[in-house]
Amino acid sequence: MDRQQDYVLRTIEDRDVRFVRLWFTDVIGTLKSVALSPAEVENAFTEGLGFDGSSIDGYTRISESDMLLQPDPSTFQILPWRGDQGQSSRMFCDVLTPDGRPAPADPRHVLRRVLDRAADRGFTCFTHPEIEFYLLQSDQPGPDGEPVPVDRAGYFDNVPGSDAADFRRDAVSLLEGMGISVEFSHHENGPGQNEIDLCAADALTTADNVMTFRTVVKEVAAAQGTYATFMPKPFSHHPGSGMHTHFSLFEGDANAFYDPADEFRLSVTGRRFIAGLLRHSVEITAVTHQFVNSYKRLWGGGEAPSYTSWGHNNRSALVRVPLYKPDKAGSARIEYRGIDASANPYLAYALLIAAGLKGIEEGYELPEAAAEDISALTTHERRVLGHVPLPGTLHDALRPAEESEFVASVLGEHVFDALLRNKRQEWDDYRVEVTPYELRRYLSGL
Ligand code: GLU
Ligand code: MG
Ligand code: MG
Repeated sequence: MDRQQDYVLRTIEDRDVRFVRLWFTDVIGTLKSVALSPAEVENAFTEGLGFDGSSIDGYTRISESDMLLQPDPSTFQILPWRGDQGQSSRMFCDVLTPDGRPAPADPRHVLRRVLDRAADRGFTCFTHPEIEFYLLQSDQPGPDGEPVPVDRAGYFDNVPGSDAADFRRDAVSLLEGMGISVEFSHHENGPGQNEIDLCAADALTTADNVMTFRTVVKEVAAAQGTYATFMPKPFSHHPGSGMHTHFSLFEGDANAFYDPADEFRLSVTGRRFIAGLLRHSVEITAVTHQFVNSYKRLWGGGEAPSYTSWGHNNRSALVRVPLYKPDKAGSARIEYRGIDASANPYLAYALLIAAGLKGIEEGYELPEAAAEDISALTTHERRVLGHVPLPGTLHDALRPAEESEFVASVLGEHVFDALLRNKRQEWDDYRVEVTPYELRRYLSGL
């Protein structure tokens, strides 16, 4: 028993914890949970907890279905809700094969592998996500077929006594109570749309925090009689929900993206990292935008980036480099805007960080920054300036992903195959659906 495990066992006893939830995710990023009785936790630390992997999306084939959950004691946290029915807690788990090796299907392991590689090069990777979501009256559409938002407010609106303001206060206090620091929160552009930005943490912790965040936000909404959705584009005519993420690499205490001598304070390492993000953005789109609906956000306006480009104060750019103040070396960072609110954070961050590292390792050249609104340019102008469109549909995104050795090597063969199989199936299901749009458009006229 190490010290962290010891601390968990003692806390369970001292706080009279009744349930210990073990959390992990499938390849799509759905949170999976199994509740353990406190008496079983010590055993789970030493031997792992067996489960049937064949029932988890993308895990194993039936013939090799036994897997183990290995709780990570550093993620132990009392859950601050439903305490009246006996205190609950949770730990994220690493998934192991029966012989104790990391399971190749575990998204958390995919991210760990990339972060270990970064560490071998002397880098620690920090991330901070801006998570957008809609608050709705329920998970059912209204009479006109559209979801019903809780308010009609817009960007940064302060709506006294509103559901959204109460909601953000409760959600932020719960998150802070779970050790997840929030940088700020506000009403977003769409009706009922909100954004909560988490403080920077190492990338594995951030990915765990995103999973926790989604649960907390849904719990708080349910407690207030509303419904929170991370669906990338719930409304045709309102902005989608992104999960823009800021990345920074540190070498010891030094921010590797910062160079005081550069006009924009951006180091060569930072430039190459951006070049890596841009060069690989198309082939990783099937992961950063993993659902049929994700492409409605990407091409549906509302400040979502549709072309590969980077810039400083340009909100149409895929990669944005906030202008750093000379005295704020530590905060130098790179924002990737091409990731939506429902992406699997482990896999998306693994690919984005690996793309940036590849840019550094192979010395990729960074193209010129874009100063103009890229969507306002003509197709010809965009081509001349090298702004490549991101895929238009899930179908279009699958081909470059399938052909990418980079994506295969970062995800590992198992996750790569499982994910592509799942996504092909999703596209096949979608393409045979006759949608309300088609009925509206064609039924009476044809
Ligand atoms: N909602 C936009 C998106 O889907 C982002 C708006 C913003 O810049 O915060 O990416
Ligand atoms: Mg936003
Ligand atoms: Mg942003």
